[in-house]
Amino acid sequence: MISPAKENQIRQLIAKGMSRRQVAADLKVSRDTVARVLKREPRPVETNDPPINIFSGPVGRCPTCGVKVYLPCFACYIETHRNVSELQGDEHNKSEPATNPS
Ligand SMILES: [Zn+2]
Repeated sequence: MISPAKENQIRQLIAKGMSRRQVAADLKVSRDTVARVLKREPRPVETNDPPINIFSGPVGRCPTCGVKVYLPCFACYIETHRNVSELQGDEHNKSEPATNPS
């Protein structure tokens, strides 16, 4: 287990064009670690959901929020994806704890 800071260093050096072996030597980690970090690199927005054509579906009651909408429910679709990005830990939102009085 290595620190996120070190992971970032690894990714930055690789992005600069350094070889994995050089990066490993430079950061004093094993080449296996470098390989593992790179394999684990978060992909930019990738989901297994089929593409959804908003407003193309039939009108119906959304099973999630109970509102009559064009299915699938756009609001719940957005909500789902917002939650997913929160779970994955958005760097920009990490500094402040979510304290929503409700
Ligand atoms: Zn809904």
